[in-house]
Amino acid sequence: MEILSISRVSFLLISMLIIVISGIAKPSDYHQSGLFTDNDRVVKTPTDGGIVEKIPAKYQERYNKWKTELLSTDFGRAQWDKYANNKNFILEITVSDKENQGAGTGNYQWNEQGELVGASITLGLKLDKGFPSPVYFPVMNSISDFNIPGEISNDTLAATKFMHEFGHVNMTYNTNHLTFQTQNKLIPDYNKILLSNGYNTKDQRLLELVGKMGGTPVEIWENREYWGEANAMSYLLERVQKTDYFCSVVKKINYNVVTFAETYKDRFFEVANSKSPSACRK
Ligand SMILES: [Zn+2]
Repeated sequence: MEILSISRVSFLLISMLIIVISGIAKPSDYHQSGLFTDNDRVVKTPTDGGIVEKIPAKYQERYNKWKTELLSTDFGRAQWDKYANNKNFILEITVSDKENQGAGTGNYQWNEQGELVGASITLGLKLDKGFPSPVYFPVMNSISDFNIPGEISNDTLAATKFMHEFGHVNMTYNTNHLTFQTQNKLIPDYNKILLSNGYNTKDQRLLELVGKMGGTPVEIWENREYWGEANAMSYLLERVQKTDYFCSVVKKINYNVVTFAETYKDRFFEVANSKSPSACRK
């Protein structure tokens, strides 16, 4: 247990360093592109929106498999339809070598009322490979124990990551533009001070920025990531619901959450309670 908490602390420190160095917050092993950049375009509310798929021909076949996998669950279909049927929102989806085994969500567009009306999801060309760290990605990571023939397939892994990105869109959709803008604007200021004051997080200037942003850059980033993961969890648990290893997947996610994401456990427990039978809760 002690080893685990040390690893969590060092992971936090490493992440923090990455955040400070790059000026943006990003997980080191999943999102290649920043979550705090390029997010501030104000546009007219579209009237002919929906989901726009811009898939390069060479990636079309693999994309079709990931999408089919996503649409094989009620949860995935509901998430998809929510954006496909929304004429006042444009969700662009692409597959790119800019992301490798990860994905990214950005290019957020807002209307003049501060409502989110557009976003882009970029899926990595190798989305169906690789398991992100359990510290910030307790759900996607859980698949690593079950990614063997006859259990969780690479396409399900890809669809779970796809659903993590939908979670980012959902969360931003529920965020006011001003809050989002304030966070994105002040995070570089916070990092600049942190770099110059010997990493003193008790610095009065930093505490004031935390008050304005509603958390430290790490907390804001963690919160966004764990919403992505909670969304991924709803998909994954439904996808494996009828298998004989279902409870083992629930337990693995639970272990990752309790070990690394204790503060955020409620959102995961809520999904577990709604998706798993009482037999799994022993
Ligand atoms: Zn994420």
